Amino acid sequence: MLNKKTVDDINVKGKRVLVRCDFNVPLIDGKITDENRLVAALPTIKKLIADGGKVILCSHLGKPKGEPKPELSLAPVAVRLSELLGQEVKFAADPEVVGPNAKAAVEAMKDGDVILLENTRYRAEETKNGEEFSKELASLCDVFVNDAFGTAHRAHCSNVGVTKYVDTAVVGYLMEKEIAFLGNAVNNPERPFVAILGGSKVSSKISVIDNLIDKVDVLIIGGGMAYTFAKAAGGTVGDSLLEMDYLDYANKMKEKAAAKGVKLLLPVDNVVADAFSNDANTQVVPAGQIPDGWEGLDIGPETAKLFADAVKTAKTVVWNGPMGCFEMPKFAAGTKAVAAALAETDAVTIIGGGDSAAAVNQLGYGDKMTHISTGGGASLEFLEGKELPGVAAANDK
Ligand code: AMP
Repeated sequence: MLNKKTVDDINVKGKRVLVRCDFNVPLIDGKITDENRLVAALPTIKKLIADGGKVILCSHLGKPKGEPKPELSLAPVAVRLSELLGQEVKFAADPEVVGPNAKAAVEAMKDGDVILLENTRYRAEETKNGEEFSKELASLCDVFVNDAFGTAHRAHCSNVGVTKYVDTAVVGYLMEKEIAFLGNAVNNPERPFVAILGGSKVSSKISVIDNLIDKVDVLIIGGGMAYTFAKAAGGTVGDSLLEMDYLDYANKMKEKAAAKGVKLLLPVDNVVADAFSNDANTQVVPAGQIPDGWEGLDIGPETAKLFADAVKTAKTVVWNGPMGCFEMPKFAAGTKAVAAALAETDAVTIIGGGDSAAAVNQLGYGDKMTHISTGGGASLEFLEGKELPGVAAANDK
């Protein structure tokens, strides 16, 4: 249970409510190409409108590195949000975020009105959790709501610093839902509990492997990470991704899994290529038998079957990270097979944001999953068992 106050615990009638959302959506030529994060933010915004709050939305978008970059303006988000909400979302186009436009717009707000501030990362202090910008944001509002799960693993002005200067700081419905699903899956799973980890590097997933081995019944490791495990077991991996500094770690994790009675499933075959390209020549070879001049870019068909069979036995599945270089169609089959296995099972299925969420949505399996997290990095840190600063900063119940 989340021990933090939520939007259900406060009265916002007539109050100025600053809401930190995660509107960090992909944009191509000013067009939003995936609006899942906007849709996920609607329940909190609608609730605050219905309760008569003056709703001031803010978010970051991309990495403008502390400077106004027109291609990373939130203006297109204001337009799309207006359509989704069926009411105007006024855009306060200040390069300094809290500037004359924002102040005048807030001053003129009536109960139930909505405005959107410019990209918070136009300000260099944002990612440093600086005092000045935190105070400026706080000066706009009476109440603060954090609904940005995607940035909850960061301590920035707009999700952490600002809470020092407002009396009331609560979390929104999306934050509550993300933590409920991820928390339940990890801490109170219906068993068997299967976790699937993929992605490029072992080094970036050490803590998550450590933490999950204590909790799961089956741990599946695919993607680029698996080659370090194959090498550690005495195999040859050709030119595949390999982290020589983590061979000992890989062996230790195998021992830890064995000692705990956790089944650790690694690839038994791989699709290998003679170049890092969709036009490369490919072949399927047994894991740990990759010839020189070839690199593993996907799990092979036997592995896909092995992993899918493990998913079939599960009652709870958590998945984070692709099984191969799925961005290239030639190496997407393994990731697709895992996504399909999750779509078919009746188990609770939790997708930990990022690449796996994108893969599931692109394949049209989105509505077949129990929960798709809006935060890749945040869900990973949650799976590591870390406290998320964006959540910790909200008022306790
Ligand atoms: P991560 O950010 O660590 O979750 O890694 C995601 C990236 O890992 C994706 O862009 C994949 O293309 C990449 N990836 C997955 N498997 C492999 C592989 N076998 N070799 C190289 N890159 C991979």
